Amino acid sequence: MTTAPLEDQRRLLDVQALDTRAAQIAHRRRTLPALARIAELEVRLADVDASRIASRTALSDLRREVTKADADVEQVRSRAARDQGRLDAGTGTAKDLQAITSELTALTRRQSELEEVELEVMERLEAHESVLAELNSAAAVIEAQQAEAVAERDAALAVLDEELAALDIDRVAKADGLDAGLLKLYDRLREQSGGLGAAALRGRRCEGCRLELNPTDVAAIRKAPPEQVVLCEECGRILVRLPEPAKG
Ligand SMILES: [Zn+2]
Repeated sequence: MTTAPLEDQRRLLDVQALDTRAAQIAHRRRTLPALARIAELEVRLADVDASRIASRTALSDLRREVTKADADVEQVRSRAARDQGRLDAGTGTAKDLQAITSELTALTRRQSELEEVELEVMERLEAHESVLAELNSAAAVIEAQQAEAVAERDAALAVLDEELAALDIDRVAKADGLDAGLLKLYDRLREQSGGLGAAALRGRRCEGCRLELNPTDVAAIRKAPPEQVVLCEECGRILVRLPEPAKG
């Protein structure tokens, strides 16, 4: 059986109150709205980044296609120029000149086909470039929102950390000189009972589990020596007897 001065048992309730507030602040630290917002923005940015990677790959493929289409056109164009030169020079037999003329006709048709291909590829390239530009500005918007949410989170954390530091100082002062066995029991019970290790007995009610104890038990608790540390029959927490309310 643990014993500790009744005064220490009552001070333990102050320590418990500080510990409860610290636990509430720790909970608020973990559940800041800014944290959810940051996580949501990270997912959105990852989506946009995946699209940007796909878009850049498509663009580099299209740029290669444009280069190739351009080279194809250039090849036909220079061959036509050479043919035209030979026609202009007027050398060769009539049959040669006729062959060159018909090749020129074919080359002209081929050139216009290839130019159409090149134009079509360039149009696709331009469309992809504007898609990428849109993705880039979407990413910039998300990054700005992220910076805002991070600043909001950091500001909120700074306030909470300041509160925690102040609570910590109070707690050290309140716990200073408290019966060591009582504190040890309190810490163990607090760990087992969701952060609440000690509670007041108010009337017949344990403020830890909020249950009414039966009158016989309450009478026995009230009669027990003051330094005896009593545990709640229902929840096992340290049950601290408060001064009797003044009668009159
Ligand atoms: Zn209880």
